[in-house]
Amino acid sequence: MALQNEWTKALIRWYKTTMRDLPWRRTSDPYAVWISEIMLQQTRVEAVIAYYHRFLQLFPTVQALASAPQEAVLKAWEGLGYYSRARNMHKAAKTIVNLYGGVFPEQYTELKKLPGIGAYTAGAIASIAFGEQVPAVDGNVKRVASRLLGIRENVNQPAVIRDIRNTLTDAIPGGQASAFNQALMELGATVCIPRTPRCETCPLARYCDAYEAGDADSLPVIDRKKPPREVSVAVCLITYRNAVLVFKRRERLLQGMYVFGLAEEITDPAAAQNHWAERGLDMRFIADIGKARHIFTHRVWNMTILHFELLEKPSGAFLRENDAQLADFEQLKALPLPTAMKAAKEAAFKLL
Ligand code: SF4
Repeated sequence: MALQNEWTKALIRWYKTTMRDLPWRRTSDPYAVWISEIMLQQTRVEAVIAYYHRFLQLFPTVQALASAPQEAVLKAWEGLGYYSRARNMHKAAKTIVNLYGGVFPEQYTELKKLPGIGAYTAGAIASIAFGEQVPAVDGNVKRVASRLLGIRENVNQPAVIRDIRNTLTDAIPGGQASAFNQALMELGATVCIPRTPRCETCPLARYCDAYEAGDADSLPVIDRKKPPREVSVAVCLITYRNAVLVFKRRERLLQGMYVFGLAEEITDPAAAQNHWAERGLDMRFIADIGKARHIFTHRVWNMTILHFELLEKPSGAFLRENDAQLADFEQLKALPLPTAMKAAKEAAFKLL
């Protein structure tokens, strides 16, 4: 127990003297903490800062977020990726307003019931905003814990995660859950990094099991993930006069975002033209604009960007059935388009 106290003290001391000055560290407002934590999942700190400020300017309170149209929320998220995060935040904001009278729930167990808030985010908000003695265990913290505590089992197994959570819960010094959790996250982000941890500068080196054993760079043990599936996608810029057809996605991937005419497993113009002819669009091929590639978590889109011109205006029935619309330059600029459409969007702007 004495040794445990020592490492937590050393960790918090180190954090207080070296922590980076990040905007969300200047607040304990649960709404702001929540936004930063969701944005920081899968996204680098440097990329998040500007989005964080802009999002809070657009939606300064949970009420403002709850009453905003989904498209405005997705537009503010444009470029951050993993758009289900934004859709879930929007849903959770509505729940907080409707079920909790607009007051953020304070407890870990209540927070975890909200859409998009899992064990990690609930732990982060409960500890940082409300001081609850709960850990916040994400991939970074699992890595630090596995090295520090010498856990050489798969850290993605529920039983191992439970052990890490229990050990960290016991280790949190009274009244210091916020600093403790943030210190572990900071250590994982700046010192105990993947592959080549900087053990020589680590405040925990003398307490660290992996450092002593010399196997830090082979920890944590994790499952080998399946590589994402490669898919060919024709991205069709289908123009009519000074406008281009855009479609609101219904599929789970990028749901609610706008894309150009996509045809999966198609690369050549003739096949793409047939694909749209079957759906009632009469058009002619103009040019092959180029290639682009986008990597999602489970799939990779290898895109061929093709330009087609409509011979007649699409029918109202086609637009309704496909959640489609013709967008001119200004309308295209205002719609939320995912980063996967970046190259195609730039090409479309040149055509309009
Ligand atoms: Fe990570 Fe090395 Fe520090 Fe151990 S000593 S916690 S492996 S950086």
